[in-house]
Amino acid sequence: MGELLNPIEPRKPLIIGLGHPLRRDDGLGLHILGELQASCSPFTDSLTCGQEVLCWLSQLMHRPQLIILDAIDGGYPPGTVIRLVRSGDGLLDMLSLDEAHSHDSNLGLALALIRQKGVPLPAAVVYGIQPFDIGLGNGLTPCVARALNFLVKQLVSDGPWHNTKCLSDAVWLASDQIIHERIGKKMHGLAWMEEVLREIEVASTCHDLKKIVKVTLRRGELSHHSQEELELAWELKKDTLCQQAVLVIEEEPALIRCPACRWEARWRSDLLYCQMCGGRVELVSGTDLQLVSIQGI
Ligand SMILES: [Zn+2]
Repeated sequence: MGELLNPIEPRKPLIIGLGHPLRRDDGLGLHILGELQASCSPFTDSLTCGQEVLCWLSQLMHRPQLIILDAIDGGYPPGTVIRLVRSGDGLLDMLSLDEAHSHDSNLGLALALIRQKGVPLPAAVVYGIQPFDIGLGNGLTPCVARALNFLVKQLVSDGPWHNTKCLSDAVWLASDQIIHERIGKKMHGLAWMEEVLREIEVASTCHDLKKIVKVTLRRGELSHHSQEELELAWELKKDTLCQQAVLVIEEEPALIRCPACRWEARWRSDLLYCQMCGGRVELVSGTDLQLVSIQGI
């Protein structure tokens, strides 16, 4: 063990995938790491965790940065992408607080041992997704799989995502089309409305519309944007093309469905199994904001 703790050459950042491969969304850290390795990402050093804590020490020592991939339960709608930036005690606190994840506390223990030896801890960026189902089973649920695609794209393409000096905590609602970004505590609902207005502008050019009379949006029950927030953003952002337009916001309930017998029900965070056949349910609607239709003349 003494050998493991000797100073060694400066090393590359290390990317770590955490999770349990047989617990559905809980295994997403492993899935993300697999995708990154398949897409030849800039990360060359990676670690699929699950080994003994002492084996991790040699891997974790003297890293300028750790990038940790894991399921994160932050109380958000399932499929929400979360970034947390932590260093030193903050990193240890975060890993030890998360008692639900035994794999995290293993990592926390390894880092605590390293610090006890007087070796400084690296800065860490944790990327995670709010899970829908962490019960026993194979594969990610569909909303988490969609969010994973978004996250992997960002990790592969966007260099600044990896630079801890420029990063802050953030939350992305990774719906199919539009990413609603929240940095720190502030929600950028206006950014989404700007995106909608750009779509309207493109559509009006294509269809030669001079004036928009009605715009219909659909708001999922689990969307972070309230009706009031959307109305306010609309009033603040609508341009001359939309000045006279009526805004209609339809509400979309969050529904779960059993893929085996098609049983459906309203989403509840504690309702993971089909009430008819006992199979596992999937979230099928209610997380997105969508532009449904535009009427113009
Ligand atoms: Zn069923």
